[in-house]
Amino acid sequence: MIPKTLRLRITATAETIVRSGHPWLFADSIHESNRVGQTGELAVIYDRKDKFLAVGLFDPDSPIRVRILHVGKPQTIDAAWWQIRLAQTLARREKLFDAQTNGFRLIHGESDGWPGLVLDRYDSTLVLKLYTAAWLSRLDEILFLLQEKISCERIVLRLSRNIQSPAEKQFQRRDGQILFGSIPNVPVIFSENGICFEADVLCGQKTGFFLDQRENRAEVETLSRGKKVLNAFSFSGGFSVYAARGGASSVTDLDISAHALESAKRNFALNQNFPTVAACKHETVQADAFEWLEKNPAKFDLIVLDPPSLAKRASEREGAIHAYENLNSFGIAKLSRDGILVAGSCSAHVSATEFFEAVQRAAKSSGRKFSELKTLQHPPDHPATFKEAQYLKVIYLKFAS
Ligand code: SAH
Repeated sequence: MIPKTLRLRITATAETIVRSGHPWLFADSIHESNRVGQTGELAVIYDRKDKFLAVGLFDPDSPIRVRILHVGKPQTIDAAWWQIRLAQTLARREKLFDAQTNGFRLIHGESDGWPGLVLDRYDSTLVLKLYTAAWLSRLDEILFLLQEKISCERIVLRLSRNIQSPAEKQFQRRDGQILFGSIPNVPVIFSENGICFEADVLCGQKTGFFLDQRENRAEVETLSRGKKVLNAFSFSGGFSVYAARGGASSVTDLDISAHALESAKRNFALNQNFPTVAACKHETVQADAFEWLEKNPAKFDLIVLDPPSLAKRASEREGAIHAYENLNSFGIAKLSRDGILVAGSCSAHVSATEFFEAVQRAAKSSGRKFSELKTLQHPPDHPATFKEAQYLKVIYLKFAS
């Protein structure tokens, strides 16, 4: 017997929020449900006048109980609906990249209408990353849809840590599983603005690379000529290879992970065809960046500070703002005369204004003259349509003394 549609009634406040387009309905906003809901089934939300308000994916194990797929007039969510949604999502990327770039985000979760789902392309490898178990029951359907529209050699499944256990137990899916095609010759090589990078698609952070920093990397390339560059929290040296191509005299990658630094070395090796990269002195330092920046006396002309999120939850917000200010103070103290600071944050719980102000406070308290060159936020393949999605912010400061 086909179960009755899951129908929910929600609080007046939540109704206003959902109507305005916010993609999350929290568990404590639901005051009536016609039955118990299952992971991944469609939940239909009704307004106070008993009219259709929205439809989304139900997740009984997450505080975000429903991730909204559609709000407005009633819609049937069938194969045709998914096809249209995918076509719209892909159309938004159509003119973004030329042949020099074959690593980018094809689907960016909520802000693209696919709550909790990310799809990245690394050349002919697609990486599908799920942040909610709600997609697992419809994975075959999604896979069929993707293969129909996007040509690729393989599709790799990645799962956020919190859903790995239910995925294995209930759906026999695991992180790093190949959903289609052959196992890649790890790691996968792709191109970004003509620079080759490796991506560890099977077990690397995110989906294997930080595609979201592409615009900032390109910006750093334009600022690096003749400079002694420090890339702190370097990961696989993305900023560094760009700095080297832009003519940096030396680049130091600083990261706590030996694995990341090995990858940074390979990324430099992959780009020796660029004379500027071949001429650049590259070194790696494995250390805690906070400690190293505080204690090491070396000076640099350009410093990139792009730490991991310092506020994993809302309660850590104030501490994180403080930590950003301290970290950037350490960084500024290591900048030579006329040095440039490129300071990033990927904490969604810290707003752009809060972060930029923290970095500026650090700059002011250094007593040095400085000016703001620019700020950058989300690149177009990583849209952010609501507050909680706005995690990425970078500020560029130039010191005149
Ligand atoms: N800037 C990178 C992404 C940074 S991800 C890019 O654009 O590709 C964060 C990195 O910080 C990871 O590589 C992680 O190993 C490193 N990391 C985390 N804590 C650290 C610490 N205390 N000191 C140095 N590196 C750290």
